Amino acid sequence: MSIKDNLHTIKSSLPSHVTLVSVSKTKPVSDLMEAYDAGQRIFGENKIQEMTEKWQQMPKDIEWHMIGHVQSNKVKYMVPYVKLIHGVDSMKLLKEINRHAVRWRKNIKCLLQIHIAEEETKFGLDEKELDELLHSDEFKSFENIKIVGLMGMATFTENQEQVKREFNHLKSIFENCKSLESLNLKLETLSMGMSGDYSIAIECGSTMVRIGSSIFGGR
Ligand SMILES: *Cc1c(COP(=O)(O)O)cnc(C)c1O
Repeated sequence: MSIKDNLHTIKSSLPSHVTLVSVSKTKPVSDLMEAYDAGQRIFGENKIQEMTEKWQQMPKDIEWHMIGHVQSNKVKYMVPYVKLIHGVDSMKLLKEINRHAVRWRKNIKCLLQIHIAEEETKFGLDEKELDELLHSDEFKSFENIKIVGLMGMATFTENQEQVKREFNHLKSIFENCKSLESLNLKLETLSMGMSGDYSIAIECGSTMVRIGSSIFGGR
């Protein structure tokens, strides 16, 4: 199947309240253009340098989402154009994003990444760290960022019950924090679900899925 056909199949299976981020990491611009020509406008990348190179070469009506782990010293390269940063998981990083956003007189939308998987290696805040961050005075002082939601990755396992449990956990954290509205915080987006588990994620309340290999093929 072509990229266009894959996109069409996936898009037609998504409920209208779920946004599709097509994850194009490691893929050449020609593949991304195939998706673009089929109507896709939201692309997810996990390396800032690769994303910046693609941004330079591609049409400017694309929304670029940073879905990977972000190193503070690289933030400056994407602030001019990035639309949403999914993987924010520390005060240090928020501070750096805010600092560059101030310089560019921009307001940068971010999702906080929550650790829901069993695996030790995955990044993300736990529930207690999230609570502390959102209630801190330092966070409230960041005027050029806006936390618009949460993001999480389930354990990579065949065990669907476990995946479901982890996504439900994130959904409950999301619901618990929803009432904490302030100038730089309004939770509307729940980014969960990849090629292997997006159907379960949607059942559990996802509003944004990040799908790579089912669109562009294996990496
Ligand atoms: C690579 C990646 C995806 C997409 O994974 P697929 O299994 O190819 O759909 C989604 N989210 C993040 C954070 C990723 O790094």
